[in-house]
Amino acid sequence: MITVRLKQGRERALENRHPWIFSGAIDRLDRGIQPGQVVQIADAQGAVRALGYLNPRSQIAIRILSWDADEMIDRAFLRRRLEASIARRQRLPGLADTTACRLVNAESDGLPGLIVDCYDEWLVLQSLTAGIERLKDEIADVLMELLEPRGIYERSDVDVRPREGLTDLVGPLRGEIPMEPVAIQEQGRLFRVDLLRGHKTGFYLDQRQNRERVAAYCPGAEVLNAFSYTGGFGVYAGTAGASRIVNLDSSADALAAAAEHMALNGVPAERCENVTGDAFRVLRTMRDQARRFDVIVLDPPKFAFSKAQLPSATRGYKDINLQAMHLLRPGGILTTFSCSGAVDELLFQKVVFGAAIDADRDVQILERLGQAADHPVLLSFPEGAYLKGFICRVD
Ligand code: SAH
Repeated sequence: MITVRLKQGRERALENRHPWIFSGAIDRLDRGIQPGQVVQIADAQGAVRALGYLNPRSQIAIRILSWDADEMIDRAFLRRRLEASIARRQRLPGLADTTACRLVNAESDGLPGLIVDCYDEWLVLQSLTAGIERLKDEIADVLMELLEPRGIYERSDVDVRPREGLTDLVGPLRGEIPMEPVAIQEQGRLFRVDLLRGHKTGFYLDQRQNRERVAAYCPGAEVLNAFSYTGGFGVYAGTAGASRIVNLDSSADALAAAAEHMALNGVPAERCENVTGDAFRVLRTMRDQARRFDVIVLDPPKFAFSKAQLPSATRGYKDINLQAMHLLRPGGILTTFSCSGAVDELLFQKVVFGAAIDADRDVQILERLGQAADHPVLLSFPEGAYLKGFICRVD
């Protein structure tokens, strides 16, 4: 096996068990290395410290697979990692009456670049890196052995693949193709998830626990669920007894699914409203119309894909938060999220603070939110914490 040596003074990743080694930390690269090839990683003195896969085309040149330099990266290794990852989900809170969850959360579960989500009898796999591309077939075989799903569908259509020199891959990997939307339960609520065309692997599983938290503020409330997608927060608000639920999204297809989900969960149609449009505009129009709400959820898509986009991203976050505050009755509840990894919690808090100043409102943080427990964050990999949110009272 090829050994890659790190530069003197660039071994921090090894000391902190950080799973990424950047190209600048590598002393010298063998020309013959194939994207995704497994290599040994040695410190500047030449002592082998870890195993990982290397992609010369990526800035994140190496992702660590094992801190045990004697381990073999073979099918048995993949089986051990996958089994451990699946076993970790068996005693997590928030998974009662739930048939969809993340089984493998990439770096944080010791399998960098690999996402596996379970939707009832189906699995969806995302391969984010050249390293996982090379291991994918064996991973799929092991998953079939361990879980016997009806099928594994691949949704490797993700923004990070081009940085690895990879194009999108979407299609069946093993077993049948889930032609119909898959019926799932989430904490007792029912959804139908389109694994072939839905966002991410089909559903925003990372918001599961937050939906429950927000629902607690919704009995009797008029709720605006902005960036609703297929109505996740709206369904929880409706089943918690909200008097009115407005789902707002730019996608008419997502809203059609949201309406179906409201009905499927017994939320009367007369309490539901769908608004198709650009939230930046619609929130302003609603202010002009003097509409008011008791609870507003803001769960926009990722605004910052890199640090360079932080200025425009923070402007976007500030704007929607300001508009939402204008629409809240005194004492109303703002639930606001950012899923941009580049925007950390403190920065996000400052952005919401800026909005509060401009809105001339006193705002308290009641609860701090993150991703659900099946999307864990490994302490040695703080980059894994991408989702942050606040439940705020806006006086
Ligand atoms: N809260 C949802 C997930 C939201 S994902 C859930 O719990 O399932 C973000 C959503 O924002 C997507 O559905 C996307 O269609 C929508 N979106 C993106 N840009 C938008 C815009 N400018 N205005 C309104 N919706 C937008």
